[in-house]
Amino acid sequence: MAMPRTLIAGNWKMNGLIPDLSEIKTIADAANSASAEAVICPPAILIERSSSVASGTTLRIGGQDCHPASSGAHTGDVSAEMLAAVGATYVILGHSERRSDHGETSAMVAAKAVAAYRAGLTAIICVGETEQERVCGTTLSVVEAQLAASLPDAANASNTAIAYEPIWAIGTGQVPTDQEIAEVHAAIRAVLTTKLREGAKEMRLLYGGSVKPSNARSIFAIPGVDGALVGGASLKASDFISILSAAPLRET
Ligand code: PEP
Repeated sequence: MAMPRTLIAGNWKMNGLIPDLSEIKTIADAANSASAEAVICPPAILIERSSSVASGTTLRIGGQDCHPASSGAHTGDVSAEMLAAVGATYVILGHSERRSDHGETSAMVAAKAVAAYRAGLTAIICVGETEQERVCGTTLSVVEAQLAASLPDAANASNTAIAYEPIWAIGTGQVPTDQEIAEVHAAIRAVLTTKLREGAKEMRLLYGGSVKPSNARSIFAIPGVDGALVGGASLKASDFISILSAAPLRET
């Protein structure tokens, strides 16, 4: 069966308590008729309940991070196997907040992606430049280097999607121009092709950073954009569903 190519993933970050599962229920009810694949990544403690709420629908549930090891003495961490055991099928890796709050390097992100594949999860690997790097004109080299070091050799279009998230656009209401997004996505595609060859061809490239119902349609029309990673606007079902409905119908 053809699968929707466009992927819209919501990152709830450290937000959400049990009553907020009603938002996931509303999104799950809308997901079946969407032209995009929908994923919500709630905090780890809500994954099992979210998976139950989404059961029988096309909404997928993901984690926001995982440890490279499957188990062991790693206080406070969650393994990819644990995420999969409670119903997650996706995991966000290398989000800029993990890179800055927890000192995650690209090498650590690559190790986490290998763990995700081992557990059968699809990794959404995040890359993006700071405002300073954008201003200095080093965006492309920064993103290319981050991607090359964060991507394991085993990455392919079925087990990985890439999210380009300029750090200065996250939660700020600022969005790069269409041309800037297209340029970075083209550079990402070139790195993927060099590193993975055929395996990179169909890999989905998401844009993330202040995607809202008001700008989603125009972002999805940018060449090379296969979907979005959405933070703040994924917390309210009505906003997330508006973004889902703005997705064009493209199949793989
Ligand atoms: C994010 O944190 O991944 C993100 C894109 O956030 P926001 O949509 O709120 O900018």
